[in-house]
Amino acid sequence: MANALVVVDVQNDFCPGGALAVAEGDAVVEPINRMAADYDVVVATRDWHPSEHGSFASRGGPWPRHCVQGTPGAELNPGLDGGAIDLIVDKGQSPDLPGYSGFEGTELEPFLRARDVATVHVVGLALDYCVRATALDARARGFAVVVHRDATRAVEASEGDGERAVAELRAAGVEVI
Ligand SMILES: [Zn+2]
Repeated sequence: MANALVVVDVQNDFCPGGALAVAEGDAVVEPINRMAADYDVVVATRDWHPSEHGSFASRGGPWPRHCVQGTPGAELNPGLDGGAIDLIVDKGQSPDLPGYSGFEGTELEPFLRARDVATVHVVGLALDYCVRATALDARARGFAVVVHRDATRAVEASEGDGERAVAELRAAGVEVI
């Protein structure tokens, strides 16, 4: 059985200076680069929205316009070691679905199954949204799941969201270390 590292949305728009910046979002890059060598499979997800996505404030959603397909803000942080990434999964492409989870409408699960992955390690941005949703989905699909806190950061749209996400993950059987 194999271990996979799923690197969630370490994109320019979620890093300082980006359209939906997570505080210290770029601080996850270095630990992720260090970790990548220890896994059989490394997958990076990208939030990859059409120009009028339902999560954008312009359409009544909670977020500013971010990670629009093909824009510089949607590119992976240039500090990530691209050579370590086996697959890039684009999510959030459906205009009317939130697209928080890397499993929603993507090839992620069949890719992991084809490589005999038993345990999914989740890192990246942001802990309280896409990391949370991806880890919960992985658990619901029967994988063992580990979230590495030092390689995540939270948006904290409401203070305490990061801690609430950790509690919810643990209650769902996700190991948070
Ligand atoms: Zn998004």
